[in-house]
Amino acid sequence: RTVYLNGQFVAEDAAQVSIFDRGLLFADAVYEVCSVIDGRIIDYAAHMMRLERSLAEMTIDYDCSAADWPGILATLIERNGLTEGTIYMQISRGAADRDFLFPAPGTPATVFAFTQARSLVANPMAERGMRIITRPDRRWGRRDIKTVQLLYASMMKMEARAAGVDDVWLVEGDVITEGSSQNACIITPQGHLVTRDLGHHILPGVTRLSLIDIARESGITVEERPFTIAEAQGAAEAFVTSASMFVMPVVEIDGLSVGDGRPGVETMALRKAYIDHARAQG
Ligand code: PLP
Repeated sequence: RTVYLNGQFVAEDAAQVSIFDRGLLFADAVYEVCSVIDGRIIDYAAHMMRLERSLAEMTIDYDCSAADWPGILATLIERNGLTEGTIYMQISRGAADRDFLFPAPGTPATVFAFTQARSLVANPMAERGMRIITRPDRRWGRRDIKTVQLLYASMMKMEARAAGVDDVWLVEGDVITEGSSQNACIITPQGHLVTRDLGHHILPGVTRLSLIDIARESGITVEERPFTIAEAQGAAEAFVTSASMFVMPVVEIDGLSVGDGRPGVETMALRKAYIDHARAQG
């Protein structure tokens, strides 16, 4: 693969960063993941807006508009022949001798991007639905910033694997915050779409945002509010949203079936509507 690193396109084996990079030493870096379908990026503007916000919240001195990001991503897509998959972008505060305090202004950020080919539209999980378990949300208190501090999510995905299920929903008390790497949503028996309100406790998902628009346009009432494990288990349908999963049905929560235990009809209609919205871009 060809990857992008600090202004250059290089073979992946040749891309190297310093052991003093603050992304490595302090997880002092932010990232984005965008999906590509038919060789085109989905919801590009919203991902770049969130990246700029993450950089500002972390006070990482890097001007996104100073680089030609549309050009960089187009080059990666073209050189790697990517028709379907994801693009990962990361920006760290750069390399400096190890110190908790941020390095002097002017330290160049470390910037890289790479592609991963995978099929997203034809995902077998969408046919069978995900089984999830809940676990305490023990991440830090600024989950609205998309940092590379992903160890807890990684550990929880391993717990899910060990428990023989697909993923984890994180909870504070009995209230769901979000999935380990997706936003959590339910459809109530009344047919309303419920998803957690934005704040410091969850990541403002780009897919969540697009889907809320799509749902409202199709006449579905959307409620952005907290909901409990019990409400989710008693919901008509449940699903998650993320750039790489789009809209993915959840059919079991902590061993209890949601609805009839099969991917929900509304959920699958929203999945199709989201993919149509994605394909209509570009
Ligand atoms: N929540 C968390 C914790 C995530 O890591 C992600 C994506 O990686 C999401 C939600 C979904 O966000 P998006 O739809 O922008 O991919």
